[in-house]
Amino acid sequence: MPALERELERLLGERAVLTAPDALLAWECDGFTVHKSRPRAVVLPNSTAQVQAVVRLLHAAAVPFVPRGAGTCLSGGPTAGADAVVIDLARMRQVLHVSTEDLYAVVQPGVVNLDLTTAVHHLGLHYAPDPSSQSVCTIGGNFAENSGGPHCFKYGMTVDHVLGAVIVLPDGALCRLGDPAGARLPGALDLTAVFCGSEGTFGIATEITVRLCRDQRAVRTLLGAFATMTAACRTVSDIVAAGLVPAALEILDQATIRAVEASVYRAGYPADAAAVLLVELDGPDDVVAEEAAEVRAFMQQNGGLRIEEATDAAERKRLWKGRKGAFGAMGRLNTDLYVLDGVVPRTRLEEALVGISAIGQKHGVLLTNVFHAGDGNLHPNISYDGRDAAMTARTVAAGHEILQLCVDLGGSVSGEHGIGTEKLDHVRMMYGDADLDVMARVRAAWNPDGRCNPGKVLPSRNACAEVAKWPQMIAKVLDPEGGA
Ligand SMILES: Cc1cc2nc3c(=O)[nH]c(=O)nc-3n(C[C@H](O)[C@H](O)[C@H](O)COP(=O)(O)OP(=O)(O)OC[C@H]3O[C@@H](n4cnc5c(N)ncnc54)[C@H](O)[C@@H]3O)c2cc1C
Repeated sequence: MPALERELERLLGERAVLTAPDALLAWECDGFTVHKSRPRAVVLPNSTAQVQAVVRLLHAAAVPFVPRGAGTCLSGGPTAGADAVVIDLARMRQVLHVSTEDLYAVVQPGVVNLDLTTAVHHLGLHYAPDPSSQSVCTIGGNFAENSGGPHCFKYGMTVDHVLGAVIVLPDGALCRLGDPAGARLPGALDLTAVFCGSEGTFGIATEITVRLCRDQRAVRTLLGAFATMTAACRTVSDIVAAGLVPAALEILDQATIRAVEASVYRAGYPADAAAVLLVELDGPDDVVAEEAAEVRAFMQQNGGLRIEEATDAAERKRLWKGRKGAFGAMGRLNTDLYVLDGVVPRTRLEEALVGISAIGQKHGVLLTNVFHAGDGNLHPNISYDGRDAAMTARTVAAGHEILQLCVDLGGSVSGEHGIGTEKLDHVRMMYGDADLDVMARVRAAWNPDGRCNPGKVLPSRNACAEVAKWPQMIAKVLDPEGGA
């Protein structure tokens, strides 16, 4: 065993260091399975002190490293090169402190998103950002990705809910951001917000202070089924134009509805509908009752085929089951799933969906759509067989065109899933050299040697400085004989 691995074992214990090729298999990718690479080693620290000791060692040895939560990222963020050590934070999963007066919690980064809400449920509190992966993904990963979720339309993204953090910087120094004791106003530069969304390239968050929200008195969930996607999208526009701010506005298209209804996530959605719209309202009883009547009226006005309202918690859970399980249900359609993440202005949703369908037909790929309609945040999903190089190439090409379409319609290449390695090529659809230089300088202030999660987020002008694996990989897929 090389000296570095021996030293890692000395610091963490044998059972917290994995080096055998078979053992590393589970860390060779995240949810973006097009890009796979097995790391040099995986370590599983259980405290800030252990993370710090590992990072100091790796810094001194000039070895790159990659922080990792649950690995549910969909853009290759926690996938490490063969020379890098993965610092997996799964063992750091304690809720350290809850303040019911100042409404915050201090957690370790490996705490699973839904586990935090479960831990404070008896206090009438919850953690608002709710990625559809919330039963698995971690608060550390959410912070690094600035994750969203169905309820972020009303409550805001992760950046609106993180108050402070303890960070192990890439050289092993410890830094405190914001106010880990829950104060809302940072006394100096708001670096918590700068760190949020940095995708593991600025350092490792080992303690995170998050805002907790009081549960609302009343919650109503409505389902509207429509004969056309246009009618569902118009209903969303009508609701927002009327000044209503539902907690969630989610749409599933017909292919998704059918996949869900054929799966264990069956929710009783009408399988003949072209689109299902879920609207959740929360707040004081009388306000929610009034708003529910308005939403119903908009659904009717737009020709809703079926309008349903959950009357109790069990019914509400059923209506959400299909939406939350949609990605899992798509596992039935083929062996692999490429989940895209583009944004368009809400008023251009219909246009975007027509364009996406045309791109799918052009490349002969199987597309489904499930999306955060209130935010204009689309998730076109391509089901494909990763063992079939030609099909994978068509999938990748379709994805590229879909993201270009989003940008052409005035949107962006990512709403919440990040850039990782997947979108290194796509970033240039939105930003020029000057923009990227500013971002690179900010990153260099945190991560001057570039060893903390290298080759992610910012496309490199100097291929020697970083390993930008995705463009090489895409070239290989598109031209397997080309030797790129
Ligand atoms: C079925 C499914 C549904 C999803 N739905 C949503 C959704 O609704 N909204 C949404 O926004 N995303 C969604 N995602 C994407 C994903 O769940 C989020 O990006 C999530 O925040 C990743 O968390 P994780 O713990 O899995 O992090 P990982 O995937 O392990 O890592 C993500 C990134 O964070 C970095 N990182 C992890 N922990 C730390 C840390 N402690 N300090 C510094 N950097 C760190 C990693 O290096 C990596 O770059 C979904 C994914 C799946 C598979």
